Amino acid sequence: MCAQSLKMNAEFEIDELPILANADVVVIGAGPAGSSAAATAAAGGVSVLMLDKKEQIGLPVQCAEYVPLSLAAEVPVPADCIAQRVEGFVTYIHREQVAQTRAPGYILNRDVFDRYLAERAVQSGVKLFTKARAVAVTDQGVLINKQGKLSVVKAGIIIGSEGPKSVVAQAIHCPPQILAYAKQITVKLRKRAQWAQIYFSPSIPGGYAWLFPKNDLANVGVSIDLSLGGSVATALAEFQQYLFKEGVISEEVIRTTGGAIPIGGPRLRMQQKNIMLVGDAAGHTHPISGEGIFPAIVAGKIAGSLAVDSIRTGDINVLTQYPRQYLIRFGEFIQRGFKRKVEYNTNWEKTDFSVLVRKTWFAFPEYFET
Ligand SMILES: Cc1cc2nc3c(=O)[nH]c(=O)nc-3n(C[C@H](O)[C@H](O)[C@H](O)COP(=O)(O)OP(=O)(O)OC[C@H]3O[C@@H](n4cnc5c(N)ncnc54)[C@H](O)[C@@H]3O)c2cc1C
Repeated sequence: MCAQSLKMNAEFEIDELPILANADVVVIGAGPAGSSAAATAAAGGVSVLMLDKKEQIGLPVQCAEYVPLSLAAEVPVPADCIAQRVEGFVTYIHREQVAQTRAPGYILNRDVFDRYLAERAVQSGVKLFTKARAVAVTDQGVLINKQGKLSVVKAGIIIGSEGPKSVVAQAIHCPPQILAYAKQITVKLRKRAQWAQIYFSPSIPGGYAWLFPKNDLANVGVSIDLSLGGSVATALAEFQQYLFKEGVISEEVIRTTGGAIPIGGPRLRMQQKNIMLVGDAAGHTHPISGEGIFPAIVAGKIAGSLAVDSIRTGDINVLTQYPRQYLIRFGEFIQRGFKRKVEYNTNWEKTDFSVLVRKTWFAFPEYFET
């Protein structure tokens, strides 16, 4: 099948390890991308194994939880996954309101949503292993560490959907991704809101601060492109203090989270031989906004469907269609975002900050100019 296609990224004698399972398709990571790919492949009648290092899918939540309403056209979004609806976002530069943009969406209960997606995959026939960490991908399958025991999962097709620091991506020699870092707190909101808020400031280089209302609570966070400097913790503390002084939020912090967000655009190599990368593992997040749930789910559907075609026809070359199909769907959207990201980084500290934000943030007409 793929004898020479994958270089081993770990030093071990794989023949000496027990084979835990064998499947047509092995999906590594049960986030939105993986569950979407797995459910699609299983619905197509092939055997699918999905594994995740977590004990409980969806926890801890590392997300501001916004998705556009249009997600419901891609996957059913049950009522218990939705915390509230928002009408769009209000943009602030230097803390002055400069735009109000309609972009109706949901603030999810992300843990419930991720669990629902994984359960939906299981109902489609996917076998799910939790507490199973992929540690390496070899020419013979995936090496996993399940509760301290090493074993091998043999796979016809491997889908890497295990987030920004993907083991599968390393196995096919993808370079590390360009990442922004985010930190977020969940706090009490003094007054419920229907609009999300986005704040740009020179003290948040290459990123922004947000307040996403969630009923009586709010997700308040900051993401920064650290290659431009700054400190996520300092910027978040300043933002929290500002919102508190303005009477928008209470002082008590209910939860703290954070994480890495790919901002370098889609990987040049998101497929090789019998391997596909999906979601954050493939850099499918928008390079400016960091929005990644919607593209992860759509890319998962594309990858899952091609996996079925490939298994059915016995032709692994079917998978070469994956990057093109992804780009047909998202190319223009992501490529403009990446171009604007490059413009931002190139002109950072050279151009008036307001002009820079207007050119690089999609609330403004300048963003859509060539
Ligand atoms: C603070 C923050 C706020 C965000 N806010 C938003 C937002 O409001 N809206 C939005 O659209 N996007 C947002 N994003 C981005 C969004 O969360 C991601 O784009 C999305 O989760 C991508 O889904 P995924 O399935 O590719 O990866 P993930 O959701 O990261 O899922 C990957 C899964 O793989 C598992 N895994 C990892 N490594 C291994 C391994 N070696 N073996 C087995 N399993 C493994 C993990 O446990 C996890 O379950 C935010 C990101 C951050 C960090």
